[in-house]
Amino acid sequence: MPRAKTSGTNSIFRDLPSVDAVLRTPTGRSVASEAGERHAASLTREVIAMLRDEMEAGSHHEAQPEELLHLSEARLEAAYQALELKRVHRVINATGVVIHTNLGRAPLSDAARRAVADAAGPCTVEYDLASGRRGRRGVMAEELLRELTGAESVLIVNNCAAAAFFVLMVFAAGGEVIISRGELVEIGGDFRVPDVLAQSGATLREVGTTNRTKLSDYERAVTGKTRVILRVHPSNYRIVGFTAAPSIEELAGLAHKHKLLFYEDIGSGALSELSAVGLADEPVVGVSLTSGVGIVTFSGDKLLGGPQAGIIAGRSEYVDRLRKHPLYRALRVDKLTYAALEATLQAYRRGTAADEVPVQRMLSISEHDLRQRAAMFLERLRGLTPANSGLGFELIEGESAVGGGAAPSARLKTSLIAVTHVTRTAPQLEMTLRQGSPPVVARIVDGRVVLDLRTVTEVEENDLAAAIASLS
Ligand SMILES: *Cc1c(COP(=O)(O)O)cnc(C)c1O
Repeated sequence: MPRAKTSGTNSIFRDLPSVDAVLRTPTGRSVASEAGERHAASLTREVIAMLRDEMEAGSHHEAQPEELLHLSEARLEAAYQALELKRVHRVINATGVVIHTNLGRAPLSDAARRAVADAAGPCTVEYDLASGRRGRRGVMAEELLRELTGAESVLIVNNCAAAAFFVLMVFAAGGEVIISRGELVEIGGDFRVPDVLAQSGATLREVGTTNRTKLSDYERAVTGKTRVILRVHPSNYRIVGFTAAPSIEELAGLAHKHKLLFYEDIGSGALSELSAVGLADEPVVGVSLTSGVGIVTFSGDKLLGGPQAGIIAGRSEYVDRLRKHPLYRALRVDKLTYAALEATLQAYRRGTAADEVPVQRMLSISEHDLRQRAAMFLERLRGLTPANSGLGFELIEGESAVGGGAAPSARLKTSLIAVTHVTRTAPQLEMTLRQGSPPVVARIVDGRVVLDLRTVTEVEENDLAAAIASLS
């Protein structure tokens, strides 16, 4: 029998469960075993406080004690799931954006994943097995990078932003850095060349105009305070049309004449011309170094397709000064990064990076292969979904993107699978996929959810197919 709960302010709350009662339910026990007793209790208190507020506002007055307990359980489960979504999850990247910054940039190769798992326990990051004594960090990764870029010396830091800051701080603080106006760019929303320069303690000397800068512009700007000539690869941005810039050799000559460091921040560059997989305007690290650049910096996780890292490559006289600088200790990388980087670089040394390194593979897969894969996948989806499922599929032409602030002018044609449902909207389908297990991240184009298999591995296709089929 429902009782009247309107008399007295306390009585309407009488049937709310206690925190302990909720924690004793199956849901309470399972949340507590995953998140810990204290966290489960704090979530439960929030759930009960919210129910209390709702009762005060006039809801749930007819609810029986056991209904309130069930409601609390359901709310606790939802609160826990909402928190769980914030954890770092593996996802399926069906966006076609190869180096997706929000999704962790480069997916690591199988060899790099195994290396990370191996290094997770005790490992030789600073131990030399040959002598049984302390070893130097990063020797193997540095050696591989020296070999692959032709650099005299290499140093590895946390990311390319740290590398740029470090180089400018050590070689230009208190002095001036000359840079072309066309290269004062922002990359990825929070890396702004002028801001990094200001933080390093150097003063910016802009020369030339946005579209044209001549050698004589640089020459006229050199004073007794000049320390560095900086060239920045605009990465995610192109100035086209009536443009001019001095060659690397000309700038190197100028730097040499005035005993200045010539530093080039390449960011997304390629290791060698061979690994530039059709991205014609990506600078090649080795080419810059042989053309007379003193230091080149680039990201480990852009076109290289390795872990997040900033690679500093160049002449020993410069790089070794950085290695001995006290700030290096604050910017160096951990054992997992070295492990992943070594394994990635070994694929380049073997000459198998095009097959083994996912970024390289995803960028080089042909239009024809993508169309075939998409057509087969579509047939598979039709097979998995009954005619009355409400789901519809269509193969359409589209474009993938390199992403990660790299190669903005590269056009990567692809075949997309458009997914529609008779009653559910594209944002509803997209959200269901995103919150599934494993989460699938897809794009919406012209009001339809689209899947791009360029960034989905063949192994992941199984999970992707199951996720789509469950939308019906
Ligand atoms: C991406 C990029 C950076 C920043 O690199 P992170 O590895 O993301 O820190 C710096 N400079 C250039 C030219 C870049 O393209």
